[in-house]
Amino acid sequence: MRTQIAAANWKMNLKYQQGEKLLDEILDTKLLLKDHQKVIFAVPFPYLIMARSEVSEEKNYHAAAQNCHHKKSGAFTGEVSAEMIHSLNISYCIVGHSERREFFSESNAVLAEKINLCLENFITPVFCCGEALKIREAGTQNDFVALQLKESLFHLTPGQVSSVIIAYEPIWAIGTGKTATTEQAQEMHAHLRSVIAGQYGDELANQISILYGGSVKANNAKELFSCPDVDGGLVGGASLVSAEFIEIIRSLKP
Ligand code: PEP
Repeated sequence: MRTQIAAANWKMNLKYQQGEKLLDEILDTKLLLKDHQKVIFAVPFPYLIMARSEVSEEKNYHAAAQNCHHKKSGAFTGEVSAEMIHSLNISYCIVGHSERREFFSESNAVLAEKINLCLENFITPVFCCGEALKIREAGTQNDFVALQLKESLFHLTPGQVSSVIIAYEPIWAIGTGKTATTEQAQEMHAHLRSVIAGQYGDELANQISILYGGSVKANNAKELFSCPDVDGGLVGGASLVSAEFIEIIRSLKP
């Protein structure tokens, strides 16, 4: 079975002590993960070492960065490079979240540079794609997300692309409480997989984990994750509440 992943995206939320408490509460429940399951906590940069040490004894639990800069190093005050993240022993990083695309004008080309730097530094990128409401209403969402994949990922070799995790996050569902239906999620995930298959072949496409993101909660995770092409979720708001996120982890395909 493909790797099934519950990924928490804390965004710019929680003070350090609150983050530590949240991790304690989740990890104290001792949810044992199977070999094909993973839990990833994407925390603010200053919390990475704390999160890494919290999960260090737990099988298949990982800490992740939420972003990295698109240049290797240099005069970019306030920024954090993939190499720095790697030097902390962190091996996951979200790339291309819609909030970065919107508020920091990150283009598909810039995201391709971030993906390259992650891979050069042994970091697995969690690459986000997804359409805005206008695009969904115009019915052009399939072409839109295909272009996002093409322009940010399709320069990679098969070996490189096989280590990328994809998160499909329709922007109209992020933080809105409006979730894609299971039909919409499954249809898009199957489409993404077919786009990858078109470039790299079926075998590779069938190995890649594609997560759904957009108002995943304890009460809808099981249904969404049960779709054949949905391999878990990238979770914002509900990942800040231990009881919610615990239930979301429990909803991964067994
Ligand atoms: C996200 O931030 O990636 C996200 C999906 O947020 P939410 O779960 O709050 O919609």
